[in-house]
Amino acid sequence: MQSLNIEVNTDELIGRLRKLASISDCSEPPPAVTRVVFSKTDLAARKYLQSLYEAAGLEVRVDAIGNTFARWVGTEPNESAVGTGSHTDAIPHSGMYDGTVGVLGGLEAILSLKRAGFIPRRSIEVVMFTSEEPTRFGIGCTGSRAMANAITLEKLANLVDDAGDNYDVVRTRAGFSGTFESVRLREDYYHAWVELHIEQGPELEASSLDIGVVTAIAAPATYSFEVIGVGGHAGAVLMPKRRDALCSAAKIVLAIEYLANKSFSPDLVATVGHLQVHPGAINSIPSQVRFSLDIRDTDMTNRDDVVAEALAWAGRIAKQREVEVRHQCLNSDPPATSSPKIIDVVEAACACENVTHQRMISRAYHDSLFMARIAPMGMIFIPCRAGVSHRPDEFSTPEQVAKGVAVLARTLASLAES
Ligand SMILES: [Zn+2]
Repeated sequence: MQSLNIEVNTDELIGRLRKLASISDCSEPPPAVTRVVFSKTDLAARKYLQSLYEAAGLEVRVDAIGNTFARWVGTEPNESAVGTGSHTDAIPHSGMYDGTVGVLGGLEAILSLKRAGFIPRRSIEVVMFTSEEPTRFGIGCTGSRAMANAITLEKLANLVDDAGDNYDVVRTRAGFSGTFESVRLREDYYHAWVELHIEQGPELEASSLDIGVVTAIAAPATYSFEVIGVGGHAGAVLMPKRRDALCSAAKIVLAIEYLANKSFSPDLVATVGHLQVHPGAINSIPSQVRFSLDIRDTDMTNRDDVVAEALAWAGRIAKQREVEVRHQCLNSDPPATSSPKIIDVVEAACACENVTHQRMISRAYHDSLFMARIAPMGMIFIPCRAGVSHRPDEFSTPEQVAKGVAVLARTLASLAES
């Protein structure tokens, strides 16, 4: 290992994060950010990144759906590369650190290694993934899913946005062309994959630690439910005669909460975040209710067992209340485990940089969930204030960001040598 003196240029990095945050569709000024994939603003952000990559002397490749790879070519360019990166799309009215720290931090890690005189054996590549957030097409991580063969190309092409335009049309209009097939990466494309990200939870700040070394990423499954009862006049239909869809849905929602609470896994979380009541009038008995379920765990068997139990409860509630319950699985991803070797490398980098760390799981999911399917994967977390994310007041101090970048830089250097 070449001995390295990593000096992160914190001022420049924070300046770039602020500049990126200013490229926003949000009605409020930065640090409030809105940047939806394939919008004019997203394209402007990509242009800004491109200029930074060029100034850094990196080789840039953009694939057919806009995933952007900026490569620092190693002395053995035919060897599998070491990859890092994250996303720059942002949900409406969110903050300036989610994803961007992994992209601009990845770039700064490369720049700091260059300044330190490091010469990589394997190429090091920073990736900006298209559409990590599900805002536009209802499904997250479309870029990494496509790279890792975790979505059929037909399904991807036919995802539809609120305007009724499909993914293929929208990406073409945004200027990206080529076959969807070409987005797939070979299984040996990356020797290792590491993503730097804010924690989006309160643990690191609460324990006053600098770095979280991610051991596993919890995986989500999402379902839609429909409860069909019988509507009627709120005054005329007496209580014993009612087949109220909302009251039945409420029972199911509380059953889901109960099952999640009593699960043996501390990492299992279940959320009903969206509910639609038909006809939605003050004097009308609800005849139809649709609701969503988002359920996550690091243990997929446990997660799926809880779903099965919830469905059994829903069936019983439907029978008792003489309503019909239908459900549909929208998406079900397996969790991912970090590579033990990468965990070791990240921890060694923490020791070198004299920063404190703990091992932890990622309860939010990231592009790394899918990259783990085609490469040994690791993630580096930095604290964020009060665990707040997806809000304009999302914040990490410049020192916290810089420590994350320094650990990432050493990690990348070490993996590029191996
Ligand atoms: Zn993110």
